[in-house]
Amino acid sequence: MPKNIKNFQILISEEEIARRIIGLGQEISGFYNDNSVIVIGVLKGSFIFLADLVRRINSDVHIDFVGISSYAGTQSTQDIKLTRDLSINVEGKNVLVVEDIIDTGLTISYLQKYLVEKKGAREVKTAAFLSKPLARKTTCVVDWVGFEIGNEFVIGYGLDYNERYRELPYIAIYKE
Ligand code: 5GP
Repeated sequence: MPKNIKNFQILISEEEIARRIIGLGQEISGFYNDNSVIVIGVLKGSFIFLADLVRRINSDVHIDFVGISSYAGTQSTQDIKLTRDLSINVEGKNVLVVEDIIDTGLTISYLQKYLVEKKGAREVKTAAFLSKPLARKTTCVVDWVGFEIGNEFVIGYGLDYNERYRELPYIAIYKE
């Protein structure tokens, strides 16, 4: 039985997630075909999505991670910081950024710009497990989205509440 279930309302079940990952894997494999792609996970929230997704991509995949932090209570892109840089050279390469959730869009906009302008990536595509279109504060392109959700705060499948609940196999709405 899931822990503390009284606080959670399951929004996306384990079965729905598994089905969607297969679909995303097919779409992404169809896009890259036999080409190489460097898959970059944004820590920490993307680690479970990335692990499931890359096992459904048939192209030649290399994997790396970046760490990003944004200060709470501000919406400025200037407050987004890289806390862990890439260990693979992406210059001239195809890059697929894998995000847990796109909320305001500020993190992904920062990262897309960073990868092209500072790291010289040839092409940057983005796959996000979740997207909250109503929360957007910037225009950003997200090429593949697992599920669109409303403005609720969600946990599970890599997403935390104060570093807890990342291990839950489903997505739930967190209620205090
Ligand atoms: P953005 O820059 O798009 O506003 O923020 C993206 C980041 O905010 C995500 O990678 C995630 O860490 C965090 N975030 C946004 N919405 C949620 C949510 O509903 N639940 C959790 N656990 N984190 C969220």
